[in-house]
Amino acid sequence: MKGRVAVLKAYGGDFELREYPVPDPEPGAILVRLTRAGVCGSDLHIWRGEMKEVYGSPPRDLTFGHEMCGRVERLGEGVTVDSAGQPLREGDRMTFLYFFPCGRCPVCLRDEVGSCPRKARPSRVAGTRPFFNNAYGDYYYLRPGGFLFRIPDEVSDDVATPANCALAQVIYGLARAGLRPGDTLVIQGAGGLGLNAVAVARDTGADRVIVLDRVASRLELARAFGADHTLSLADLPTPERRIEAVMDLTGGFGADVVADFVGYPEVVPEGLRMLRGGGCYLEIGSIAPGNVFSYDATALVRGNARLVAASNYSPWALARALGFLRRNLGRFPFERLVSHVFPLEDISEAFREADWMQRGGDGLRLSRAALSMAD
Ligand SMILES: [Zn+2]
Ligand SMILES: [Zn+2]
Repeated sequence: MKGRVAVLKAYGGDFELREYPVPDPEPGAILVRLTRAGVCGSDLHIWRGEMKEVYGSPPRDLTFGHEMCGRVERLGEGVTVDSAGQPLREGDRMTFLYFFPCGRCPVCLRDEVGSCPRKARPSRVAGTRPFFNNAYGDYYYLRPGGFLFRIPDEVSDDVATPANCALAQVIYGLARAGLRPGDTLVIQGAGGLGLNAVAVARDTGADRVIVLDRVASRLELARAFGADHTLSLADLPTPERRIEAVMDLTGGFGADVVADFVGYPEVVPEGLRMLRGGGCYLEIGSIAPGNVFSYDATALVRGNARLVAASNYSPWALARALGFLRRNLGRFPFERLVSHVFPLEDISEAFREADWMQRGGDGLRLSRAALSMAD
């Protein structure tokens, strides 16, 4: 039996599909038949070549993708339950961490599993055994020790796809930032992460959620997810005016938490100035190398500011993400987070479309693209 893996041939260009033999899972491993994969903002950074330093130029046998879900195709010997202790059988739908913390180092010991310096990431070089190491393919080989969770029956694959990246990341980040019921949260950027953040903040009991973006349709979606106020960069073209608007909305004091989900460093100094005294700035968006910003350290001191960043997450965040989705299915329009689903053979078109949408598109079509491998 063989399965397909999508390999990027040129930055900003096309993928080709290569076939590799589907492996049998070793003891403790799981062979997953992927059903969906998401095109995340970080995947677009890779596709555009903004991470050449990491993946080489031109890309050599580069395969990637990390947002996904699927069904258990074959359980390796000894695997009987998921990471929450629920029975797991072949055919069950599941989601899983795409990185592998070591679980036995001083960082993991301090409950900072997402920051494990020894965490393993599967190879992004196509053809590396066991061949199915990333999301853009027919299968995924979940190595022994991977964290995985059964998807609740009520939650469709389309809704569950962003759970193991965007949603778990947001839940983990906002928890690290200490968002509490009654807080005011400013969200910079209403992409996939920002929209999930609106919903998570509502679920947490935030009193007021303010969202900034430049695309009107994304702001409309932010309101559909429960944002109280949306501020358009088109209406407020300068940082000064945006800061003033946030101050007006917060009685002149600033927000308890400001979170960056944009990914370009210019937004950081602006966001820091939207904080109340003692507030927390959460940095999640910047993942491409060289995102440098400059800020007055004295202003941070005088503001008693807290700065928190989040990359990856602890496994509990993915378990909570599934509970969050099940609990809020009728409340938030999760189905609108993915606007375009392409079959895997159209992955090149999916990336071009996702890139265009992320840049603002025509302002009508919006949100994200996903790939479908099976149902
Ligand atoms: Zn992602
Ligand atoms: Zn570790």
